[in-house]
Amino acid sequence: MVDVLLKDIRKSFGSMEVLHGISIEIARGEFVSLLGPSGCGKTTLLRIIAGLEGVSQGSVEIAGQDVTRLPPEKRDIAMMFQSYALLPHLSVAENVRFPLRMRGIGSREEQAERVRAALETVHLSAFAERRPRQLSGGQQQRVALARAIVSNPKVLLLDEPLSNLDARLREDMQVELIEMHKRLGLTTVFVTHDQEEALSLSDRIVLIQKGRVEQEGTPSDIYARPATHFASTFLGTANLVAAEIEGHGENAAARLADGQVLPLAGADAQPGPAMLAIRQEDVTLLAAGSVEGALRARVRTRVYLGARSRYVVELSDKELRVLAPNDSVFEGGEDVMLKIDPARIRILPAKET
Ligand code: ATP
Repeated sequence: MVDVLLKDIRKSFGSMEVLHGISIEIARGEFVSLLGPSGCGKTTLLRIIAGLEGVSQGSVEIAGQDVTRLPPEKRDIAMMFQSYALLPHLSVAENVRFPLRMRGIGSREEQAERVRAALETVHLSAFAERRPRQLSGGQQQRVALARAIVSNPKVLLLDEPLSNLDARLREDMQVELIEMHKRLGLTTVFVTHDQEEALSLSDRIVLIQKGRVEQEGTPSDIYARPATHFASTFLGTANLVAAEIEGHGENAAARLADGQVLPLAGADAQPGPAMLAIRQEDVTLLAAGSVEGALRARVRTRVYLGARSRYVVELSDKELRVLAPNDSVFEGGEDVMLKIDPARIRILPAKET
């Protein structure tokens, strides 16, 4: 069953079109992230689903009903923003009850029961009578989440809800969101520019760039098989290396600009110019010397990250980023060999239209 259906959505502000025909289907109970860089149009799209923004063209359906022309309060949705604005003079429980009061949902007793259940869901039952300023940032965020789910909406819309939290709290809230989604099974649309957050939370990711859907799929699908240059660099920050593919099957190889040859046996390669997407963590650094199938390179910089280091390595005419464990360490200026598993190299078209 489809809960949210976007058909060919276009949106212009003045003469500037920012969404160029977006179609997305979201199934009941699915957790879908709209992921993309700043300015790609993801918030505008979420506001269109919410009814806070009209469309220039296209339609929005929620649970089978065309809601394109309906105001937000007539759509069965709840939205939580980055700036979640709790009302300071009301208690936590009153803040959570607020949408029920505004919409006249349920009797006083029913409202109290719903508030109790929502606070329990976000583990804040003990804080019901406190004021927002007596809570930590993470707790306030959870109150906002309780306020969003209290009316039991068909669809929960979240716009970068974790971006104001510090790293540790963010991780806690991510776990909380995953567990809440498992328990309640709410259809959820989550806007983020953070690829890790999208990978860890979503059933499905819709990658958006410049007002268009670039690619969609499960996190592991998009991560393992990015379809475009942008998808490979935005998710998992792959390196892009231009090459000429030579030979077929077991004899396939990629010739780099400096003439070095990278074996591609086992990779799905067609002869001709190509772009190789190579993930930072798929490169092994070895001491200089003659290593079968490895490439000569030079370390420019090493950045210590605790368990691992990030290297900037000069290969052919490119700078490559490599993430490697700290069991053997190479310093700036050192010659090294790079070993890359051909099965993990993604071969993309040399140029995109
Ligand atoms: P961010 O992550 O920075 O919030 P985003 O991907 O959510 O970015 P949007 O906020 O949807 O992007 O904005 C998409 C484009 O539309 C931007 O170029 C933005 O400047 C423009 N835009 C958004 N709202 C308006 C508005 N009310 N009037 C004019 N232009 C707007």
